[in-house]
Amino acid sequence: MSVAATMPRFLEMERKYGSLIRGMRASRRTQASGPQKHGGARYSQFMTLRGGMSRLIDAPRDSLPAESVHLNTPITKLTRTHRGWCLEDRGGRRRVADAVVIASPARHAAPMLRRLDPRLADQLASIEYASCAVVSLAFRRDQIKAPLNAFGFVVPHVERRFILSCSFSSEKYEGRAPGDTVLMRVFIGGAMQQSLLRMPDEQLLELAHWEVADLLDIDGDPIMRHLTRQLHAMPQYHVGHTRRIAEITERLDAHPTLALAGSSLTGVGVPGCIASGKQAAARVLAGLHQSTPTPPTTMSSRPPSPPSLSPPSNARVVSP
Ligand SMILES: Cc1cc2nc3c(=O)[nH]c(=O)nc-3n(C[C@H](O)[C@H](O)[C@H](O)COP(=O)(O)OP(=O)(O)OC[C@H]3O[C@@H](n4cnc5c(N)ncnc54)[C@H](O)[C@@H]3O)c2cc1C
Repeated sequence: MSVAATMPRFLEMERKYGSLIRGMRASRRTQASGPQKHGGARYSQFMTLRGGMSRLIDAPRDSLPAESVHLNTPITKLTRTHRGWCLEDRGGRRRVADAVVIASPARHAAPMLRRLDPRLADQLASIEYASCAVVSLAFRRDQIKAPLNAFGFVVPHVERRFILSCSFSSEKYEGRAPGDTVLMRVFIGGAMQQSLLRMPDEQLLELAHWEVADLLDIDGDPIMRHLTRQLHAMPQYHVGHTRRIAEITERLDAHPTLALAGSSLTGVGVPGCIASGKQAAARVLAGLHQSTPTPPTTMSSRPPSPPSLSPPSNARVVSP
């Protein structure tokens, strides 16, 4: 993986201080000597939305006019016409838009853009993805003998185990499970153990249970279990990713009303995706101001509203 693309802060630390340990010591010293914050929100590393992550999608959907939202309508082709961008969906329907933000994974953006710019499409198509399975398991608290004094754990490859990590959802966030119950999510697969995903669901469920039972000294069967397969869901920022993104950005310069957003580009986590979405919205709005002397023809009858830059109102902070 490219350190520059996945953990730029660490690279900067190593450059500035000569080693990561020295860099961490220095940042601790700076934090300790900095002004103490009294009022306001204290953001911990872990934050989620009340009601689950799907709120992030449902909220903007619900705030838009129903006729301007087209769910389950994959776009297959994007072309530039004298009227603007023409989007063609899988059913062959066409819509015209003044500006387009493609927020799909890069491997889906590539075929849309192939006719417009084959090199851009090639660059997007070359971003690789890994898959994983997520097994959610719930236990009664008294079934678990190991102390749950962490938010979970990651398993280095050298341990030769069949799970990548385990996150204690109920310990990280309020309201994820009743008080006498522990909910955990076990991750299996990833780039290093793709072949495990060939296993049928039942075996993956058992594998996850067997591994956590062994590591956390758990008695008996889970009281709830659930499996989801996240196929091609994790973009891999291999060495060269930052160069590739620089070229993608340069090629997009030819199209000020077209932008890309999402995890394939500059940040694999949700905060990175939100930041890239805001940047993409700002970019196409600027492009529209540059290129439209007449009022734009939008997909909906309502004029586009500027992107909101405030954090979601239902964001919740959970302190460690
Ligand atoms: C198992 C797992 C755990 C994770 N845990 C965390 C975590 O704890 N914290 C964190 O910050 N991040 C986490 N992530 C990463 C985070 O989930 C992703 O970064 C984020 O969901 C990616 O969002 P996205 O909008 O870029 O892509 P997606 O959520 O994949 O959305 C892309 C959308 O594009 C649509 N689409 C695809 N093709 C087309 C097309 N042709 N036309 C129109 N639409 C199309 C898809 O239907 C989809 O809705 C996790 C990821 C995984 C896989």
